[in-house]
Amino acid sequence: MHTILVAASLTLGLALCIMILFRSQFVPSDGLLLIGLLGLSAAELLNAQALASSADVLAFERWSLAAHGLAFWALAGFSLVYARILQPHSLSRFQLLLLTACAALPTLPLVLPAPSLFFAPALHAPWVIPLTRLGFYHQLGLLLAVLFSLYNLEGTLTSATHVKRWRIKFFVLGLMAMLASQLLVISEVLLYRELDLTLSPTRQIGFLLGVLLMGYSLATRGGEEKIVFSRRLAYKSLVLFAVGVYLVSIGLLGQAMRQFDDLNKSTVIMSLSLLGGVGVLTLFLSETVRRKVKTDMCKYFYKDKYDYRLQWLDFIRRLVDVGDLKDLYQAVLLGFCENLGMGQAALYLRDARTGSFEPIHQWEMGAANTPLPPDHPWCQPPSFAGEVSDLRHVPPPPPAPAASFLVPLMHGPLFEGFILLDHPFNSREAYDEEDFELMEALAHQATSAILLMRLADELSAAREMEAMGKVSAFVLHDLKNLVHTLSLIVENAKNYIQMPEFQQDMLEALDNSMSKMMALIHRLRGVPSSEALRCEDTDLLELARESSKSVPDGVLSVHGDSVPATVDRAEMSKVLVNLFRNAMEASQGNRPVEVEVGREGQPYVKVSDSGCGMDEEFIRKRLFVPFATTKDKGHGMGIGLYQSKQIVEAHGGRLMVESQPGRGSTFTVLLPDAQPS
Ligand code: ADP
Repeated sequence: MHTILVAASLTLGLALCIMILFRSQFVPSDGLLLIGLLGLSAAELLNAQALASSADVLAFERWSLAAHGLAFWALAGFSLVYARILQPHSLSRFQLLLLTACAALPTLPLVLPAPSLFFAPALHAPWVIPLTRLGFYHQLGLLLAVLFSLYNLEGTLTSATHVKRWRIKFFVLGLMAMLASQLLVISEVLLYRELDLTLSPTRQIGFLLGVLLMGYSLATRGGEEKIVFSRRLAYKSLVLFAVGVYLVSIGLLGQAMRQFDDLNKSTVIMSLSLLGGVGVLTLFLSETVRRKVKTDMCKYFYKDKYDYRLQWLDFIRRLVDVGDLKDLYQAVLLGFCENLGMGQAALYLRDARTGSFEPIHQWEMGAANTPLPPDHPWCQPPSFAGEVSDLRHVPPPPPAPAASFLVPLMHGPLFEGFILLDHPFNSREAYDEEDFELMEALAHQATSAILLMRLADELSAAREMEAMGKVSAFVLHDLKNLVHTLSLIVENAKNYIQMPEFQQDMLEALDNSMSKMMALIHRLRGVPSSEALRCEDTDLLELARESSKSVPDGVLSVHGDSVPATVDRAEMSKVLVNLFRNAMEASQGNRPVEVEVGREGQPYVKVSDSGCGMDEEFIRKRLFVPFATTKDKGHGMGIGLYQSKQIVEAHGGRLMVESQPGRGSTFTVLLPDAQPS
């Protein structure tokens, strides 16, 4: 088993080194990493040799220690520069001093003879080598170097954000796993003041895990990503805290072992693993412990209970990622619960008509289901705008549910609603001004988000209604005219159906009504996409002449040159007819409308009238906007120009307008050149 582990570590370690060596951007700091990895592998190999040859145990072990020392020195240097943007003075004097001191780690075992580091192993246990005082201090140095590297790597990881963090995460974690396994073994060595060669599988497993993670990271997430290293974040090291706790507990267990002789080494390791496992499980499974650890850690390490920036960003991110109002309510309540360590929440909003506060949404607070009347004590505006009410020792006035805190939602001076929070995960947590401040800040954000989304919903509903109203008025108007014509025909048919002239008239009237209905359907249909256009080579002048037949004779004067263009005749004719009609209606039929076809760089059709014209603001804000019309109800729907613009643009052209109020307007359809067939 041991041999397999050593062989696997060596092979995979070498593979990783080759991967690093031949990846596209080899940087000088990678050299340090290579020395580190090769040093660790060499140390394991020498260790295995020491175990195998009982004669030269001390010699091999001395070399193994030197290899370890070299590896830790290189890795300490690597951890200081990896993925960081380095400036001339980014390494502090203290860091440089520590790095220099680390040089002693490989040097000591090389220059000192084996007996000054270790005592010879006992015959019955040749794999256990007791340490001299110097050997002990050397191990202490190794521990500090590992700790220093872990601390730096953690700082790099916490300073990286988003994509950068994603890119380097597994690489850093891999290296940390390697170092952590070394740390475990060294702490054992320090505890018993002896090198136990049989502990090496722990290191090898850590090494293997690390190599796999780093290899995976290099293969799938690319190389290193430079980040701006934040000292502020690095000070909040979790590693230091965790290692501190670990070392203290190991020290205590060592003490206990001295008291009770029958406790042997494996019992200590077992108890430690058990303790660690149970600890991790409790941390992950219990919300209460998580909350407690989080807030206490924040207090001890961060000065403030909350890192407001992170809390704020987390909350905003939740509010942005929502689809509709219901999602938003849920996101608000969950945001409150998770940031403040609460198990239940409910949202009440004021009903503008009745003045009562309606329960809009709840999270795990089933009792929040009855509206609270306007005279309910909780529905009175807070004495200070936005002030949170602490209800922990107040029985809820019926029909309100039990709650610990009431967070008002204020929009300016208006009391728009409130959020109830209850069931703190940590029942003994002292909620104070700091928590209330966070609640108020989140409430402020939540109110704006909720009101904005409600307003947007109401507005789009109102817009839809308005548009529907306009469309139906227009359709109704046309239908009424058509029904009127048809009913006249039916009425007259009773008496004149036998007369051939009437039959002729009737057919014409029916044909006419049918074309009008077709035109109506045509207008209500959407605009075809550019792919759906059926373009063909067309003479624009001829198309303009043909389209002019849709308006009464004598109103239009069509002139210009025969210009070829590639257009969908039916769609382009719709555009021209709409422009002709608008021009005619603007000049009220008594002034001529000029239609000019020509080419100035590109084919164009210009429709000019000397009608009422439009002002600049109308053109900018309303002209091409659907349902904007100045015509009387029933005459204009305000979609003609909107559709025309879409059709012209689908052809790759442009629809332009020049106009002066009271003087007239010119609409120009500019089209791309005819495509050579
Ligand atoms: P509709 O004709 O159904 O109202 P349009 O989209 O074709 O819809 O036109 C929108 C509005 O633009 C018209 O109601 C009118 O106020 C204005 N407009 C369009 N063409 C002209 C023009 N030649 N002169 C003055 N106003 C015009």
